[in-house]
Amino acid sequence: MDYSRLSFWHESVGDLEPSPTPKAHGRYDVIILGGGFTGLWTGIYLLRKEPKLKVAIVEKEIAGFGASGRNGGWCSSLFPWSASQLERKYGFEQAVALRRAMVKTVAEVGRISKELGIDCDFRQAGTYTLIRSDAQAKKARHELEQAGRFGVDELKLLPIESAPQASKSMGAVFDPGCAAIHPAKLVRGLARVFRKLGGHLFEKTEVTGFEAGQVETSRGLMSTSWIVEALEGYRSALPGMKRDSIPIYSLMIATEPIDPKLLDEIGIFDGATFADFRQLIVYGQRTKDNRIAFGGRGAPYHFGSKVSQEYEQVPRIHQNIERYLFDMFPQLAGTRISHRWGGALGVKRDWMASVRVDRASKICHAGGYVGDGVGTSNLFGRSLADLILGIDSPESRLCFVGHESKKWEPEPLRFLGARSAVLAASIADEIEGVTGRQSPLSKVVASLTGK
Ligand SMILES: Cc1cc2nc3c(=O)[nH]c(=O)nc-3n(C[C@H](O)[C@H](O)[C@H](O)COP(=O)(O)OP(=O)(O)OC[C@H]3O[C@@H](n4cnc5c(N)ncnc54)[C@H](O)[C@@H]3O)c2cc1C
Repeated sequence: MDYSRLSFWHESVGDLEPSPTPKAHGRYDVIILGGGFTGLWTGIYLLRKEPKLKVAIVEKEIAGFGASGRNGGWCSSLFPWSASQLERKYGFEQAVALRRAMVKTVAEVGRISKELGIDCDFRQAGTYTLIRSDAQAKKARHELEQAGRFGVDELKLLPIESAPQASKSMGAVFDPGCAAIHPAKLVRGLARVFRKLGGHLFEKTEVTGFEAGQVETSRGLMSTSWIVEALEGYRSALPGMKRDSIPIYSLMIATEPIDPKLLDEIGIFDGATFADFRQLIVYGQRTKDNRIAFGGRGAPYHFGSKVSQEYEQVPRIHQNIERYLFDMFPQLAGTRISHRWGGALGVKRDWMASVRVDRASKICHAGGYVGDGVGTSNLFGRSLADLILGIDSPESRLCFVGHESKKWEPEPLRFLGARSAVLAASIADEIEGVTGRQSPLSKVVASLTGK
């Protein structure tokens, strides 16, 4: 496979050669399934704390093949559940503790990637969430109120003249808790560091099954004390896991490089990330080489939680994403789109991310990030490493540890629920775009997405 064709990020990273793949056998202390951010951060924190551990990562393609290599590059303090959702389930103090940990995580990714010698274009220039209708203004007020109540996130309301110059702009909410990164540079760098620390990286090796103490792979049977399952959007392809989390596709485009002066004039400064308050999430960043990498949801869920590379190219959705970008910033009209790609997110039934450790079987799991895994996977990696090593730390006591979501419904109910959520969100956006007022469908979207 030509991995450089997976996304703009893969094409621009260079080093995509899989490591030499010996037969997978032998005994390990920890075997991690999946070579994305979750698997690599967990492996690296384990080895930094206990250099003598024998840790392996088993990856079907190459490290960074999945969402970790192809995302929007928002290393943000966003978490799938809002602070109020966390408060309802776990109380005010736990909600505040998690918000604080997420804000610190953005700085930790910047700090540790530098310490590890990984240049991933980390630039913490914050996120501008544009307000482009009365309905969006209502959501913005709600977010500002919530941030004020919990007292952690330093959100600021910007007037029109200080916000990026978007069409229909009524201003923006600025959140300093986000850095733009080049995700493939980070994930491939982490793979190099993992190997340098003595980790065993088995690329081009598929996990076909696992149970306490052993992992069955396309290159042999491996035995282990601990197993960490970190397959995220691909979990449902393993036997018996179709209802644990479902793959939802997010698609992206990248423009050709744009005159930096034009981007500065618009107010999309170096390293800035941006979105608006629509239902069907969109996300953009100005890349180091002055492109706009821009993505959005809306791609269809496939019956039976099926994952396939063909679902990463949906011309209708790529066209919608392109249209949203130029509708938001008409100043960019005529800019050529150079790349179109997509990838699978992992979504649990209650849309909450979790770290789970079963001390009896020694099987662990981390994931369910929806679209917020770039920062969160670093926090989960630290938490999981401490839990496995029996270290009592603030990270190992956060409320996502041990959280259980109920399972997704059997088909065809799962299909109907997932497709309805996307449809309701797109119709609500259309209505709100035309009337400017909040659509009653937004309540349906909230209930279908666990809000
Ligand atoms: C288009 C897109 C945009 C996104 N944008 C953002 C963003 O801007 N900010 C943000 O915070 N989050 C974003 N996300 C989400 C974020 O990228 C993910 O949450 C995060 O990368 C998940 O990391 P992971 O290691 O858990 O999973 P992955 O990176 O998906 O890693 C799982 C790995 O498992 C491997 N694998 C699969 N099956 C097997 C098997 N049988 N055996 C062995 N290996 C296997 C895969 O090849 C893959 O490398 C985005 C996701 C997508 C798809």
